[in-house]
Amino acid sequence: MKTSVAIYPGSFDPVTNGHLDLIERGEKMFDVLIVAVLRNAEKQPLFTVPERVEMLREVTKEWRSVEVDVFDGLLVDYARKRGAAVILRGIRAVSDYEYELQMALMNRKLEPRLETVFMIPGEPYSYLSAIAQHGAPLKGLVPAIVEARLRAKMS
Ligand code: ADP
Repeated sequence: MKTSVAIYPGSFDPVTNGHLDLIERGEKMFDVLIVAVLRNAEKQPLFTVPERVEMLREVTKEWRSVEVDVFDGLLVDYARKRGAAVILRGIRAVSDYEYELQMALMNRKLEPRLETVFMIPGEPYSYLSAIAQHGAPLKGLVPAIVEARLRAKMS
């Protein structure tokens, strides 16, 4: 029997209900779903990587097949290391498409056996982009524990 392992990579700075919507869909589809936080030295993050991981673990603890991890370097190398065959990404609007297409094609060039799967979040989350860019807590768009952490950071 095949065990399907998928990786859902991203910054998750912080995790939003849009991300959770995708995790919930992915959890139903794959045997193991690894939510992988990219350690990116270039970006100016709102939350540190350990803070993001902690929040992700808290809000995904009900799903036994969901794991939260950190990676750096090439995603294809990380996927090989974890034995994953699928990269899961979300597409909200047309504006996401160009960037995601380029990344998926690049990853396919680097590792042809790795398939990128795109999912569309629930409609209310389609307009939701990185909270860090807004710089304000958005009620109903992030899990309650994340809202509290955002509030503490802003005050
Ligand atoms: P990245 O910097 O890699 O885009 P993000 O944390 O912004 O990291 O996003 C990680 C993944 O989650 C991406 O595939 C992105 O398209 C998807 N995503 C971001 N926001 C939402 C949302 N509101 N609903 C569903 N998917 C989303």
